[in-house]
Amino acid sequence: MASTTSASAPESEIRKRVPIPPADPVLPPPPVLKPNYVHISEQPYTLANWYKHINWLNVVLIIIIPVAGCTAAVFTPLCTKTAVWAFFYYAMTGMSITAGYHRLWAHRSYNAKLPLRIVLAAFGGGAVEGSIRWWAAGHRVHHRYTDTDRDPYNVRRGLLYSHLGWMVFVKNPKKAGRVDISDLNADPVVRWQHRNYVLVLVVMAFLFPMCVAGLGWGDWKGGLFWAGIARMTVVHHATFCVNSLAHWIGDQPFDDRRSPRDHVLTALVTFGEGYHNFHHEFPSDYRNAIIWYQYDPTKWTIWLMKKIGLASDLKTFSQNAIEQGIVQQRQKKLDKWRSRLNWGVPLEQLPVIEFEEFQEQAKERALVLIAGVVHDVTNFVESHPGGKALIQSGIGKDATAVFNGGVYEHSNAAHNLLATMRVGVIRGGMEVEIWKQAHREHKDTVIAQDSEENAIVRAGFQPTRINAPVMSAGAA
Ligand SMILES: [Zn+2]
Ligand SMILES: [Zn+2]
Repeated sequence: MASTTSASAPESEIRKRVPIPPADPVLPPPPVLKPNYVHISEQPYTLANWYKHINWLNVVLIIIIPVAGCTAAVFTPLCTKTAVWAFFYYAMTGMSITAGYHRLWAHRSYNAKLPLRIVLAAFGGGAVEGSIRWWAAGHRVHHRYTDTDRDPYNVRRGLLYSHLGWMVFVKNPKKAGRVDISDLNADPVVRWQHRNYVLVLVVMAFLFPMCVAGLGWGDWKGGLFWAGIARMTVVHHATFCVNSLAHWIGDQPFDDRRSPRDHVLTALVTFGEGYHNFHHEFPSDYRNAIIWYQYDPTKWTIWLMKKIGLASDLKTFSQNAIEQGIVQQRQKKLDKWRSRLNWGVPLEQLPVIEFEEFQEQAKERALVLIAGVVHDVTNFVESHPGGKALIQSGIGKDATAVFNGGVYEHSNAAHNLLATMRVGVIRGGMEVEIWKQAHREHKDTVIAQDSEENAIVRAGFQPTRINAPVMSAGAA
């Protein structure tokens, strides 16, 4: 074995040179590795680092300015003109987010001419929700990774998180989902607005509404606090509701695998963005509501823009695709409902017995044979709607003909009820052959299965139902 000079040096000398001895004094001490950088969002909260977890710029923009401004607004008299202006500007800036940031830039659900794009970019900037580029990219990520850790406003982390929390806490950019935004980068309006966002924000959110009220009717303070900050706060929460409320309350007529929901209340506060289950299924459709009476002012505005020549190529999904979604979702719900009901033991799981054995066992309990299937009606004899005597006359016998119209043509409900009393199948009985034939004749319906692979038994196609022509077909 080869030896080194250090290996041959006395042990005490090594200790002097290396204050902390490595595991093997023969080898040089291992290089001190720089500890892996752990992003702040993955570090636990401590008294020393809690403030690093907070995105302070966002806190100022979405909490501190709104709270301070709204408090100031409360102490500022609201004159009618300012109130009308604030409401109008609220609609303008809110709609620029829904029709512009969302449906135009994030989803490209229509094309807009340059003047319309400039207006939407300017007023959208006045909503103080970030630049188009940032907003639309994040929203595309939300659609791509809905309800997962990569979804920036993942509602699975709680309603408050999806509403506001996601902007308050610092996130690891490496963990964010990625999407293509080359089309956004190619739009000069988007590029300009992104580069000059601070200017756009200050002018459009605060100075412009203040100057309109100030120069128009001398209400500078009301213009700033009511039309500026209070209005901005309302727009904020209206938009935030799409991320929170629209993933929380309402129906899921198109697909229920993920959280988006349709609700008129959410639509009312979000300029029509509340039909969010539809929107996540058909994101590039310029509509969110598809029925004429549903509240979707953003859709109406885009339509109006088309009429005046500022918008074109309004995209819609085909009615066929939309109705397919509705049918499949309803089918899924029906299947779930069906699976909760008792349809009787499946025929293939029933024991096969000889006819003689059936007769023998019928002496001990009330067994009735119908269409080759043995039913135990012991607990039903007393409550038979047609009377005790009639049902008793069938015990131990083949009551197929009697049950299927010989005495009374039993209802669909009666066949369903009978199925829950099945206990066996007769080997090779004639009626067994009959229901096998019935299976063959109606194979599309009788052997159809739901999404959980349970047999679907449609009304009128129960195996105990023997249609009259089966017996008389050959006689004619
Ligand atoms: Zn969503
Ligand atoms: Zn969307």
